[in-house]
This record gives sequence, structure tokens and C-alpha cells, in this order.
Amino acid sequence: MPQDLTHAADRAAIQRLSTALNLPAFEKGWVWLAGAGPGDPGLITVLGLHAIAAADVILYDSLLNDGLLGFARPGAELIFAGKRGGKHSCKQSDISRNLISLAHKDKRVLRLKGGDPLVFGRGAEEALTLAEAGVPFRIVPGVTAGIGGLAYAGIPVTHRDTNHVVTFLTGHGADGKLPELDWVSIARGSPTLVLYMARKYAGEIAAKLIAAGRTPTEPAAIVSNASLADQTVQITTLAELGSAASRSAAPAIVVIGENVTLREQMDWLGALAGKTLLAKSRGAMKDVC
Ligand code: SAH
Repeated sequence: MPQDLTHAADRAAIQRLSTALNLPAFEKGWVWLAGAGPGDPGLITVLGLHAIAAADVILYDSLLNDGLLGFARPGAELIFAGKRGGKHSCKQSDISRNLISLAHKDKRVLRLKGGDPLVFGRGAEEALTLAEAGVPFRIVPGVTAGIGGLAYAGIPVTHRDTNHVVTFLTGHGADGKLPELDWVSIARGSPTLVLYMARKYAGEIAAKLIAAGRTPTEPAAIVSNASLADQTVQITTLAELGSAASRSAAPAIVVIGENVTLREQMDWLGALAGKTLLAKSRGAMKDVC
């Protein structure tokens, strides 16, 4: 990934902002586990940006906006430590060992992940290893795809008219299989389900939910590349979820529940593109006449 050396003024601005906000200094020998958000670089936190600008070494994942790394210091080491196409490019144990050895070399080590580092992102595994090794660390939360990504599709993760409960789950266990979950309790207990890594087993999950009593016509959506220019949203039903998922691009968030219908009025991104807004105002004029 190219390291943009022209960001000196930007880095100075980030430094000033960090000081003005009294943000913690990135101390040598520390590891910061930070989330970069789902894709739109604007969704990183100020603390996350401060960490990028101050780090000596950045270990980053594949689901990360390239532009953000341009704010790294010249000479900062950028190490790709992610997965591509579901394949492990790096073993988790190697990443954790790397974090520890870099911290022991007195580096400021930034572990930068997509979304939030502690949501289906193995951040906790890394934090636990650091804790065990006695390496000081800080966690910098990020906007998770299952909340912020849905917001970019105009789908609120909760709404009092549709759901007082939301359940986040992964469709992909550590062994690559569908995790063994209590699907009956999930189906009955939570009107809205948000699924990460669920493209592969979406059809199976839908069948389990329907078998547990969920309505086949229940609304569902698949949001691919949420918050990025190539974001796509498929609106479908529980019964059709599997075939819709097979047509979807990765990465994708799946959401099942009545809250999906709110997109009809809340698709602000479509409105910005002139689509929904134009269609709606034409419709309104027709009504008036
Ligand atoms: N820690 C991340 C999740 C990592 S698991 C977070 O908090 O968002 C990877 C899964 O996240 C993907 O398979 C997909 O389900 C979801 N995901 C991440 N970025 C996404 C995006 N921009 N659009 C849609 N889904 C995304």
C-alpha cells in the first residue's frame, strides 16, 4: 500500500486537534487496538486518526480504507495482517506474537481493524494475549458494520415501533462452519437479527429461523460494501434470503426484521443521489393534483 508522504501538514493538524481535545499520548511500548469503521474514512474516530498519525508500526486488516494509512508518519512500518477471501494470510497467533515483540522493542504499535475491534474482529483474542504478556494496551472502539453500515442503508438498528431488541450474530464459526446456536431462542427472542459473515450460510440460517416460527415473508436486507461508493442494498424476504445472498458482493451485512421497511423513508443516501428524492417529490405532486 503506498505511503503518502505529502500529509505532513495534515499530521500536524491531527496532532493539534489531539492536543486540543486532550487525547492520550501514544506511549512507546504500547499497543492500541483500534477500529477504523466500516469503510467511509470519515467514520474513523478522532482517537483512531490520532493513533494512525502517531504510530511507529501499523498492523492493518483487509477491510480497511487505504486512504487512512496515508496519515501514517513517514517511516512508519505498515504491515498487512488481514485475511483475504476468507483465507488467513496471517495466523492469529503470529499476529499476537508480532504485537508483543514490537511492543517489547519499544514501538508504538497500532493494530487497526475494520469496524469495531471487539465485534467479530478477534480484537479480544489479541487483547487477552497482550494482557497475559503484560503489554500495556488501549482499545479504541470503532463504528461497527452492523450498526453504522445499516445506517448508511437507511436502516435503523432499533426503532421503537419495530424492535426493542436486536441480536448480533456471526454466520461463520472459527471452524468455517455455521456456528451451533440456539436458533429457536434466537428466532423467538429477537425481532431484529443482524448477521455478520453470513453470505455463505444465509439460506441455511433463514431455513432454521423459518422452522423456528419466523414468517417467510419477513423483510430482510443485504448491505454490501456499506458506506463505500460501491455500496449496494438488496431488499428481500427471509424465504428469499439465500438466493439474494448468493447474488451479493462481499463484505455484506444481513439484517432481518421489520426495521428493514424503514429504509423506504430513511434511504438518505439514495435521496442524496437524487433517486428517492426525485421519485418522492414527483409522487407528492401527483397526489396534490
Ligand atoms: N469488526 C468488524 C467486523 C469484522 S467481521 C465490524 O465491527 O464491523 C467481517 C464482516 O463484517 C464481514 O463479513 C461483513 O459481514 C461485515 N462488514 C465489515 N465491513 C462491511 C461493510 N463495509 N459492508 C458490509 N459488511 C461489512
